Amino acid sequence: MENPNIEQKIQDFIARIEARNPNEPEFLQAVKEVAITVLPFIATRKEYAGKKLLERMAEAERIIIFRVPWMDDKGEIHVNRGYRIQMNSAIGPYKGGIRFHPTVNLSVLKFLAFEQVFKNSLTTLPMGGGKGGANFDPQGKSDMEIMRFCQAFMTEMCKHIGPETDVPAGDIGVGAREIGYLFGQYKKIRNEFTGVLTGKGLAYGGSLIRPEATGYGVVYFCEQMLKTIGETIEGKTFSVSGFGNVAWGVVKKINELGGKVLTISGPDGYIYDEEGISGAKVDFMLSMRASGTNRAQDFATEFPSAVFHAGKRPWEVKCDVAIPAATQNELLLEDAELLVANGVLCVTEAANMPSTLEAINYFVENKILFSPGKASNAGGVATSGLEMTQNSIRLNWTSEEVDARLKEIMIGIHKACRDYGKEDNGYVNYVKGANIAGFVKVAEAMLAQGVV
Ligand code: GLU
Repeated sequence: MENPNIEQKIQDFIARIEARNPNEPEFLQAVKEVAITVLPFIATRKEYAGKKLLERMAEAERIIIFRVPWMDDKGEIHVNRGYRIQMNSAIGPYKGGIRFHPTVNLSVLKFLAFEQVFKNSLTTLPMGGGKGGANFDPQGKSDMEIMRFCQAFMTEMCKHIGPETDVPAGDIGVGAREIGYLFGQYKKIRNEFTGVLTGKGLAYGGSLIRPEATGYGVVYFCEQMLKTIGETIEGKTFSVSGFGNVAWGVVKKINELGGKVLTISGPDGYIYDEEGISGAKVDFMLSMRASGTNRAQDFATEFPSAVFHAGKRPWEVKCDVAIPAATQNELLLEDAELLVANGVLCVTEAANMPSTLEAINYFVENKILFSPGKASNAGGVATSGLEMTQNSIRLNWTSEEVDARLKEIMIGIHKACRDYGKEDNGYVNYVKGANIAGFVKVAEAMLAQGVV
């Protein structure tokens, strides 16, 4: 960093955040990544001086933590912990998913809510940032257990959300089925049929393309990144991680655009398929997800061309483009080194914060086209925003209309990242671009609304 004064300011800022949020490594990681790129920008703007804008953004407006008691099929009672983080409402109602996963804790949800503020701002739609969830493990639970858990969760959460206040959606462990149960319970308690959740089924206010949107958006973003070096998706090889909703949308769109997907993965290891993951194999990803077993190995049992690598991550495979689409911190420095050594052209994040800070720095130092999830995976929440609009005007748009708007939004985000992220030597630092572009809109709204 050229300015020693700024360097000191960044360190002091991070020290304050760390002191106020002890034992929250994921949250600190997310704030650090933003602080390093945004504080130097703030220092160049007189109107931002002394307003503590980033410091205010790093403190949730409200955090709700609650007990979720529920009964399993055998009549045994279980207790989980539920959360809703209402991070920032400067530009719209809180908006962000619900995650049901055993790894859920305050740090993880605060990092996700913090990221969501910047991501939602990048979409240009009027959505603030929030996130919620529970340390509940859906794996191996019956349909009725899932229903009872969702009902117990919503019994408390319904007091804190609403279409003009906070609009949750899905995330890991929460798909169309869970959103249905959550919506049903909200409607029963509040006696209101409103667009309080997104990712709803088509029969009760959902939007076409919402299930595909995150993955499609990632590939549209990747297409734009490749375009800057005169390349296209067609004919390229892709390493994808994960096999859930986001990975599925990514794989589907890559195939449509003529790319070849070599890998997908699960917590148990990854699948390498030299013939490419296309056709019936893409549909099989849906049944893997529905089965709830969380095993990538099942894919290799089904398709003989697929080889299963137990306990490994797919980043050791030579590919043109890497798309981490599983979860946070799944791509480490050693993985980044392997990818770069194997000649990767582009890394487009599809999960939230899948790369560690060290991995990101390595990509940036090596001038790899690299985009952070908060920019490249924003198509999911953007399409949630389009679902909210359709609910408000009580109309449904066609797939073509939603898809065209999604694509336009992703092209807009890519442009915003370039505008703020272009460095003197011509390299586009998408991390810096996304953070600053996301920050500016929220900052302007906060400045206008005073110290609240
Ligand atoms: N969970 C998704 C995300 O990380 C979608 C959130 C939403 O649609 O509100 O952006």
